[in-house]
Amino acid sequence: MQAPHTDILVIGGGPAGLHAAFYAGWRGLSVRVLEARGEIGGQLAALYPDKRVYDVPGLPATRAAEVVTHLQRQLDGLDVDLRVHTLARTLERVGDGWQVGTTSGVFTAGAVILAAGLGALRPREARVPGADLHPDVRTDLPDPDTLHGRRVLVVGGVPQATRAALELTAAGARVTLTHRRAGFRGDPDALARLEGMQTQGQLTVWAPATLRRLTEWGAELEVDGHEQNVEADTILVLNGYLPDLSPVQSWPLNWQGDYVPDGPGGRTALEGVYAVGDMAQSSTDFKLISLAFAQAAVAANHAAHHVRPELRIRPGHSSEKRA
Ligand SMILES: Cc1cc2nc3c(=O)[nH]c(=O)nc-3n(C[C@H](O)[C@H](O)[C@H](O)COP(=O)(O)OP(=O)(O)OC[C@H]3O[C@@H](n4cnc5c(N)ncnc54)[C@H](O)[C@@H]3O)c2cc1C
Repeated sequence: MQAPHTDILVIGGGPAGLHAAFYAGWRGLSVRVLEARGEIGGQLAALYPDKRVYDVPGLPATRAAEVVTHLQRQLDGLDVDLRVHTLARTLERVGDGWQVGTTSGVFTAGAVILAAGLGALRPREARVPGADLHPDVRTDLPDPDTLHGRRVLVVGGVPQATRAALELTAAGARVTLTHRRAGFRGDPDALARLEGMQTQGQLTVWAPATLRRLTEWGAELEVDGHEQNVEADTILVLNGYLPDLSPVQSWPLNWQGDYVPDGPGGRTALEGVYAVGDMAQSSTDFKLISLAFAQAAVAANHAAHHVRPELRIRPGHSSEKRA
């Protein structure tokens, strides 16, 4: 069976990858974006979704998660296939194009735009006493519907923990949320909803609380100096993410440490492979969303010309194109 093919494969669903996907799609190309995490947005979604970003052109003082929403909306109507939970691992030359092996199959394309940022953002390990005793300890939020009717203990104060508690409760799980500090992170709407649900008894919150250990039936907490047992079928330990570049660092791109040298148009040592965003060597001193956008626009237009030589590199102005 032949691998599914698109004109362009973008590796990484952060701002650089999403804007590259927009530009290539806007030029009329078919695009597939491969993202290791369960959601797009890169560092903005994983590391600081609740923080306001002040220096994205055209979006003054906008929460990072909202910047991602805008980037995704800009893909509406374009031939862009977003694949989450898809970690790119191998790159091979096939004919005039490239084949990328992933954790969810093999894909081919005429050109590859590498937008892997700091690396695949992987959930931190659950370093909790007794983590090996409980039968269902997880470090990332699965599809909430799969936990319907289950008793779920969510451990953590990061925005993903707040969101997991809300989404799981909405999906019919019986949720307890705990954190060692009193406060949780999240956007103000999410925090207000959390408080509302807690007040209405729709979920239980123990914070500040010390997680003494996990057991085969749940967890032992210490709250105000007293032992508090929580029975749980599933335990979600959400501690944020750590970047991992190793899946792509074996690719022959003349890596300079964590950076890929990017020549004019984002070109790399491999013909038809481009590097943009935080991982491009030209970003060494400026890891900025605005720079990632600019690099993505340039590389996507070069990639478009590479795949379809009849397309000029210069895209023309979008304002002159009919919708
Ligand atoms: C706390 C914090 C605050 C910041 N604030 C600002 C700010 O105010 N303004 C600003 O301009 N910048 C800010 N930045 C920097 C900005 O977030 C980065 O410059 C930007 O995210 C880079 O985008 P990117 O697409 O290159 O990489 P990333 O955002 O890192 O996205 C890369 C994506 O690729 C995925 N990926 C990696 N390897 C693979 C693989 N092998 N297969 C599949 N997927 C893969 C990752 O999971 C990730 O989702 C901030 C950064 C941090 C950490």
